[in-house]
Amino acid sequence: MPEMKIRRELLEMLFALGKAEHPNEFLAILKAKDGIIEELELAPGTYSNENSASFSIDMMPLSTDTAGSAHSHPCGLVRPSDADLKMFPKIGRFHIIIGTPYNNDTWRAFRANGDPYDMEVVD
Ligand SMILES: [Zn+2]
Repeated sequence: MPEMKIRRELLEMLFALGKAEHPNEFLAILKAKDGIIEELELAPGTYSNENSASFSIDMMPLSTDTAGSAHSHPCGLVRPSDADLKMFPKIGRFHIIIGTPYNNDTWRAFRANGDPYDMEVVD
């Protein structure tokens, strides 16, 4: 299975989004080129309640370069919820969760099945 890396600039954009949307969540689609996540597209609507996960996956701009998703956990727990584990396989293979305070120490990547994935950050 090919590896996936993430561009540092994009990761920092995700931190900024987490801060901007706090205390709500954001949900973004991650797009990759040649195995490196370099672009994001914000999911339509507000993904504001971890427990309801009421956003519509059907509305998301999924395409062949979609690598997976990124979303924030304002509660700070950096672990996929039951709702996340249902959502992940529908979006892509790699998923990032960013907890408060949204920095280098509070993000983790996961595979679609919820297993932690040690994603490399590239400059
Ligand atoms: Zn979540």
